[in-house]
Amino acid sequence: MTQQTSLIDRFGRQVDYIRISVTDRCDLRCIYCMSENVRFVPRSQLLTLEEIVRIGAAFVALGVRKIRITGGEPLTRNNILQVFHQLGRLDGLQELTLTSNGTQLPRYAHALRRAGVKRINISIDSLRPDRFHAITRNGEIEKTLAGIDAAIAAGFERIKLNAVVLKNRNHDEVLDLVGFAIDRGLDISFIEEMPLGIIDEHDRAEAYYSSDLILADLRKRYEMYPTTESTGGPSRYYRIAGQETRVGFISPHSHNFCDQCNRVRLTAEGRLLLCLGQEHSLDLRRVVRANPSDDRPLRDAIIAAMQLKPKGHDFDLTAQPVIFRHMNSTGG
Ligand code: SAM
Ligand code: SF4
Repeated sequence: MTQQTSLIDRFGRQVDYIRISVTDRCDLRCIYCMSENVRFVPRSQLLTLEEIVRIGAAFVALGVRKIRITGGEPLTRNNILQVFHQLGRLDGLQELTLTSNGTQLPRYAHALRRAGVKRINISIDSLRPDRFHAITRNGEIEKTLAGIDAAIAAGFERIKLNAVVLKNRNHDEVLDLVGFAIDRGLDISFIEEMPLGIIDEHDRAEAYYSSDLILADLRKRYEMYPTTESTGGPSRYYRIAGQETRVGFISPHSHNFCDQCNRVRLTAEGRLLLCLGQEHSLDLRRVVRANPSDDRPLRDAIIAAMQLKPKGHDFDLTAQPVIFRHMNSTGG
């Protein structure tokens, strides 16, 4: 029997959204996301695809309405379509979506659309091949551009580009990125870098470029006005006069969004993270493995975990990171 309830934390926030990381591995090595000599979790420690679906289904039974599949690069996990097909069939799930770096989309876009994925996010921080290569440490922009084209051809209802903006690396490209999105009828969100994990390539405080600076840059060319539209995540949206494109800002430093937080994350090893910027967590892999044929303990554990959800993050770019996991293991 489906248990219909809702997940409410100690601060009265309703959790109706989970981001599930299906792998911490990736074919790129973005400088803000992981260190160059990253060590990935041994495959034996990952949740199986069946366990991912089982946990996703338990969240939906408890009132979660939106699942985002992420990673690492989710499309590098073998047989990942199986997860989309099975989650996509769950009664009560209103939205199944994906964040991807796009490189595998030429292969997967149509199948994802057929599995019921309506909207996807594709990350691209620069349109210049040399910069794209430098930011991703090894990436070829042609692959991500081909992925964007494949997503457009597959007919997703909405495609959003994500760009992390770093001062002196790509901050001067925000107008070009918005122009690129407008030309293709896509949305775009600009993200302030978060201090997750130790990185060696740059100083995060020096690279900080705030959402307000980006907005001021964009207003030099576009007439932009704020909207109350939401896509269920942390983006604050602006519309551009006369265009379909929405421009979002994810601003963990300059416009804290914790009081609106409606989401939790599941790492590829099955750790339920109650906050992106804190370590409060619960090991759901242990719970599913201890109870292979009974979902009640899993649902009870999820309900109990809501009491662990902290009030918010307290990111400080000038201090040593207090969160040692990188974004690829967190599930961005
Ligand atoms: N590989 C996929 C991708 O890049 O879209 C999905 C996973 S990635 C971790 C999800 C999002 O997190 C991407 O848009 C990426 O740019 C963003 N991200 C990674 N590390 C970040 C950081 N330290 N601060 C802010 N955003 C970050
Ligand atoms: Fe890979 Fe995405 Fe992290 Fe870049 S941001 S290294 S594409 S997981």
